[in-house]
Amino acid sequence: MDFQHIVGHEDIIRHFKASIEMNRVSHAYIICGEADSGRRSLALSFAKTLQCEEGKIDPCNKCRSCVQADSGNHPDIIFVDHEKPQLVSVEDIRNNVVNTIDIKPYSSKYKIYIIEDGEMMNIPAQNALLKSIEEPPQYAIIIILTTTLDRLLPTIISRCITLSTKPVKERDIYDYLVDNFKIDDNKANFCVEYAQGNLGKAIKLATNEDYDRLVKSVINLETNIYKMDAESIAAVITDCEKSFKISMSEYLDLMMVWYRDILMLKVTGKIDKIMFKDQILTIREQSKYLSFNELEEKARAVDRAKIRIAANAKLEDIMKLLIMTLKEI
Ligand SMILES: [Zn+2]
Repeated sequence: MDFQHIVGHEDIIRHFKASIEMNRVSHAYIICGEADSGRRSLALSFAKTLQCEEGKIDPCNKCRSCVQADSGNHPDIIFVDHEKPQLVSVEDIRNNVVNTIDIKPYSSKYKIYIIEDGEMMNIPAQNALLKSIEEPPQYAIIIILTTTLDRLLPTIISRCITLSTKPVKERDIYDYLVDNFKIDDNKANFCVEYAQGNLGKAIKLATNEDYDRLVKSVINLETNIYKMDAESIAAVITDCEKSFKISMSEYLDLMMVWYRDILMLKVTGKIDKIMFKDQILTIREQSKYLSFNELEEKARAVDRAKIRIAANAKLEDIMKLLIMTLKEI
């Protein structure tokens, strides 16, 4: 893993390289962006480059430090874990950062902490971390990965350099998928449209073992929504978790592709940009009886459901409410 192998994110990479070149590396960074958007690769590449014994703006990939970084066993690149699934607690931060930061690096120039799921840090955890960010030892660098800045204290944000990921170009994602996974044009386009600039998401879908059945499930839901009952909604949720291995939120993103297809057909009248190509009859039919307003309402309902999923509401309840709303529209 290094900068050269990262697709997109040119601005962030340029920032990292310039800071190394000018010897102005900060003690604290926030990398903000969607899950799977490449934040971890960016943080790891930056850390690996900083620790490389050659000390250049790209890692040499040969020295002991580079080898350790690649194997995931670098003693001075520390990924901060958390014990509870949706919470980074004050104990996590104390045990993994605060209590160890004063111990000098084991073998490298820096001691680099990468805190994943930064948005899951509660207030006490952030307050504990604040001290380490305010008065870090010379060698320490803290990189916080987060999906949103909203859950971070202003005092944390003000002391960090914040870098936000931007969507990767569709063409770059397409090329990456076709080059690496030998998938056909249709599937690559579908994954690109679904991922909306998020390479990790595109890869996850492209390599999903149950891809065909997953797409069929979305088609089935969108075609038969009027007769969906509690039982079939529960079946969709079980399928997502058990066979498709995707989150409900990702499933909702697939539903959005369907609505964008209808919108595309309504606006352009052309079928070449349609993703659910073999469903053109249904898409055309729905595009006739759904108005622009109704399509927008559907998209909004899906967005609301995603927000409720992120807030940890009960999946069954969220999906029941969503299906009910979609039926009414
Ligand atoms: Zn090296």
